[in-house]
Amino acid sequence: MNIDLNPDKNGFFGNYGGQFISESLKVEFNNIANAFYELKEDKTFQETLNYYLTYYVGRPSPVYYAKNLSEKYGCEIYLKREDLNHTGAHKINHSIGEALLAKKMGKTKIIAETGAGQHGVATATAAALLGLKCDIYMGEKDILKQQPNVQKMKLLGANIVCVKSGERTLKEAVDEAFAAYTKEYETALYAIGSVVGPHPFPEIVEYFQSVIGKEAREQFLDQTGVLPDCVIACVGGGSNAIGIFNEFLNDDVKLIGVEPLGKGEKLGDNAASLTYGKEGILHGFKCLLLQDENGDLVNAYSVASGLDYPGVGPKHCYLKDIGRVHYETVNDEEALNAFYELSKTEGIIPALESSHALAFALRFAKANGGKKLLVNLSGRGDKDIDYILSLNA
Ligand SMILES: *Cc1c(COP(=O)(O)O)cnc(C)c1O
Repeated sequence: MNIDLNPDKNGFFGNYGGQFISESLKVEFNNIANAFYELKEDKTFQETLNYYLTYYVGRPSPVYYAKNLSEKYGCEIYLKREDLNHTGAHKINHSIGEALLAKKMGKTKIIAETGAGQHGVATATAAALLGLKCDIYMGEKDILKQQPNVQKMKLLGANIVCVKSGERTLKEAVDEAFAAYTKEYETALYAIGSVVGPHPFPEIVEYFQSVIGKEAREQFLDQTGVLPDCVIACVGGGSNAIGIFNEFLNDDVKLIGVEPLGKGEKLGDNAASLTYGKEGILHGFKCLLLQDENGDLVNAYSVASGLDYPGVGPKHCYLKDIGRVHYETVNDEEALNAFYELSKTEGIIPALESSHALAFALRFAKANGGKKLLVNLSGRGDKDIDYILSLNA
């Protein structure tokens, strides 16, 4: 196997990706691409990035052999502990990268949107660290629902912009953040929260998340002397999954992305874009998209708010087309069961997003005894405790 990791010069991975934006924004996005390509080759930048990843984020995150779980389910289950990163998930990896890119380009502000607030908190953290202003766009409904994250972002010095149009949730927040960016791009950088959006963002976010797989492959080899049979990660926009998969693409290792089936297969009840989506354009790029028979966007739903995006990263669509990665689904109930199972069996409370990857790993383990599984534990579950408690209230 030898899979081309990079998009073509127009930002396409096979049929997907690209830049479906105005001509003037294209000029700016191409400036961002050029700045990024230069930065990657810059030795001082690499040293700075490594410095922050080591001393601020706490990398490398360990690969942990989950012995109790492994004995119970009859497979060797290893967890890549992104939950141990500063701020509690993998998102800090690309947030610091994007903030460093903004500084390199001479920008003074970062603009981002957030739904559940996880991307907002990671972005606000990186902005505080690197002395950048930070505007976070958030729907009015989400602001009411996600108070702990809203308060964190404020403590971190971010300016929260309350979005009151339409449904007052993530989609409107993206629209307004993008509109603001269109006016402010000379002084601001738009920081996208996953491997989505117009070229070059899927490539930029992928680059900064690839540290997960680079570490994990080496750590796994060190600990076991072989490669895993299977690498499993949850897929929302797809950044933690691409981050761990990349380094294994040319190995004889099965790669499985797990999408949220939510309440079921019906349109509007899930967020499984790769499984049920059709080709379409959203937020400036082409991907598999949840839409009805008229081509209208369908709301995405999952118990894990970090997974409920109606589109998905273009590279995942391509990897699905060529059959290199398999995409499976896990519903809310299975994810919740895995959440409790890891907490009780290993003393690790996972994020509900990561619980999807884990739930599939447990299903796979029951069906395929004796295999070595590497699961990307993308984040910790502290943020989900209030929700979990409300279920039992
Ligand atoms: C945001 C988030 C995700 C989903 O984003 P991807 O881009 O698909 O990785 C997964 N896990 C956690 C913990 C998150 O915060």
